[in-house]
Amino acid sequence: MAEHESLEFGKADFVLLDNVSLEEFMANLKLRFEKGRIYTYIGEVVVSVNPYRAMNIYGRDTIEQYKGRELYERPPHLFAIADAAYKAMKRRNKDTCIVISGESGAGKTEASKYIMQYIAAITNPSQRAEVERVKNMLLKSNCVLEAFGNAKTNRNDNSSRFGKYMDINFDFKGDPIGGHINNYLLEKSRVIFQQEGERSFHSFYQHMSGIRSNVRKRMFKLYLMYQDLSAFSSINDSADFKAVTDAMKVIGFTTEEIQTVYKILATILHLGNLKFGSDGDVTLIENSKLVSVLGDLLSTKDENVEKALLYRTVATGRDVIDKQHTHQEASYGRDALAKAIYERLFCWIVGRINDIIEVKNYDARVHGKNTVIGVLDIYGFEIFQNNSFEQFCINYCNEKLQQLFIQLVLKQEQEEYEREGIPWKHIDYFNNQIIVDLVEQQHKGIFAVLDEACMNVGKVTDEMFLQALNGKLAKHAHYTSRKLSPTDKNLEFDRDFRIRHYAGNVAYSVVGFIDKNKDTLFQDFKRLLYNSSNPVLKAMWPEGKLSITEVTKRPLTAATLFKNSMISLVENLARKEPYYVRCIKPNDVKSPLLFEHERCKHQVEYLGLLENVRVRRAGFANRQLYPRFLQRYKMISEFTWPNHDLPSDKEAVKRLLQGCGFEHDVAYGKTKVFIRTPRTIFSLEEQRAEMV
Ligand code: ADP
Ligand code: MG
Repeated sequence: MAEHESLEFGKADFVLLDNVSLEEFMANLKLRFEKGRIYTYIGEVVVSVNPYRAMNIYGRDTIEQYKGRELYERPPHLFAIADAAYKAMKRRNKDTCIVISGESGAGKTEASKYIMQYIAAITNPSQRAEVERVKNMLLKSNCVLEAFGNAKTNRNDNSSRFGKYMDINFDFKGDPIGGHINNYLLEKSRVIFQQEGERSFHSFYQHMSGIRSNVRKRMFKLYLMYQDLSAFSSINDSADFKAVTDAMKVIGFTTEEIQTVYKILATILHLGNLKFGSDGDVTLIENSKLVSVLGDLLSTKDENVEKALLYRTVATGRDVIDKQHTHQEASYGRDALAKAIYERLFCWIVGRINDIIEVKNYDARVHGKNTVIGVLDIYGFEIFQNNSFEQFCINYCNEKLQQLFIQLVLKQEQEEYEREGIPWKHIDYFNNQIIVDLVEQQHKGIFAVLDEACMNVGKVTDEMFLQALNGKLAKHAHYTSRKLSPTDKNLEFDRDFRIRHYAGNVAYSVVGFIDKNKDTLFQDFKRLLYNSSNPVLKAMWPEGKLSITEVTKRPLTAATLFKNSMISLVENLARKEPYYVRCIKPNDVKSPLLFEHERCKHQVEYLGLLENVRVRRAGFANRQLYPRFLQRYKMISEFTWPNHDLPSDKEAVKRLLQGCGFEHDVAYGKTKVFIRTPRTIFSLEEQRAEMV
């Protein structure tokens, strides 16, 4: 249990609640938020509530207070978790990971940055230049990733529109020597469309503010829907432009690379202004001057640009013909191109950062194993008014992570009991594997049905996909649709299907599933980009090398790619010792004062926090190393104060607890004492308070 702050701040660990009920949980959460205590534990899990104001709790002095201390010695804090992960890695040579979850705007990305800062601050005491360099790179890479992967949304002014997992590698001394970033599912549709009040990715506005104004005027910026927002108060695009460009230089992007990055952004902005018209049966480009602008930016011939925009090459038997796009196809192709080059740019940036930060010259035979701390900052559960393919993927991701949480937290408990020689009692909990299977199972899972629909030649509609789902999944306990439950009032639309997620029911509209899953980019565009004389651009599009007759394999679908990346993420996390940060967003108006009860309650429910408390309490609420326990409580027993003369600390702890009448509530492990109910801890704390 965390060092006792006065009870006026509520309970520092939810495990200590008198009764585990939603009401008590919420009351404690609210009280702590109002008292400015934004962190609370559930055992070793940190629950965090976004304060929406600058907190004076991340400075050098706070870092010093947490450095090397045990989790329970100080008030709950991210630093304590970061330190625990670091200690586990350093002392026990374990790879660890910190999984941060919560909905958009709950504070995940800020938390991941504080954790990185903490790790940077406590490592490299000998100030080795190479380690300093690596730390600087790791911190700088955030700035670049946020420019290209974040955007202002209605929920969050700096919302990450991609999932991020970052490994930091440490040498045998415990100093960072490199890292690796994995990115997941960038929301590329934002490139061509934004909701009212939202912006496209920061990079576009930064680019606009960084270029000469006469050039800027020529870009009509139609892909940036709500342009006056570029003057949004909390965002300073021109200062950020400079910071990002500097960061890219520091990380080691060449001038040519940085220029190519800006050319790609300009290409996308110009594509947004490209209009198609028709003359009889012929589709043409209305503002044809743009074609040569695009040709320049992409370092390719104008006629190639024009041809790729208006035609596609198809192989019919042995012949290869150029087929003209309809007006609609041409527009579709243009938008697909804009999205694809942005996504490719983003992945390329991540790849370049990885090239630069990856561990070099580390010889495990000489230096011993290099260990890893992973930090996962990934989208939380999403339930919107209208849920589509993206929400489906994101919520599947959360099912996977919940499954991992169940396995690891329970497994971890079990392992500790075994290590300590204490009998393990089985705990009942809802196992969401059935929902994970519903989505990802081979042949009959939703992704498989979707892929099958996308494989069909000929026109397949979203409705046909829904029919196939209904056929295959009619009996599944967690699946339903309007067709299967016609009287269900919560299923409004014929095009919806509904999943009973562990976090609640979500209705998804099938509209757009087929198209988003196929994610078609005409091969002509790939060839166009590959044939650019700009080597940086060319390198981004290796598959453009294939000619039309050589392209035989269908590219993997978006669903399959995402599924594979989730499976490997989870496998990776499962090999590590996990720590959790669960973030909660207190209100929708970014207010530091408002604790919206219903909003918070909903998050507590779907994060499974109450279940988490129960699991923790079903075992032992508290466990402490014998010497630590004595240090804290020795004053309450005559046998242990000021020192004991028993053969071991373990014997002394036994004696102390017998004296207080708590024998029935504790178990003695090899190195730790386990205390079952929180009440015992309270009582010990009270007695201690009377003595000191
Ligand atoms: P998420 O990544 O979960 O979508 P962010 O980490 O971007 O959310 O946080 C959203 C905003 O909330 C931040 O831009 C910041 O203004 C505020 N915020 C989050 N965490 C903190 C914190 N610990 N202290 C102060 N403000 C915070
Ligand atoms: Mg974020």
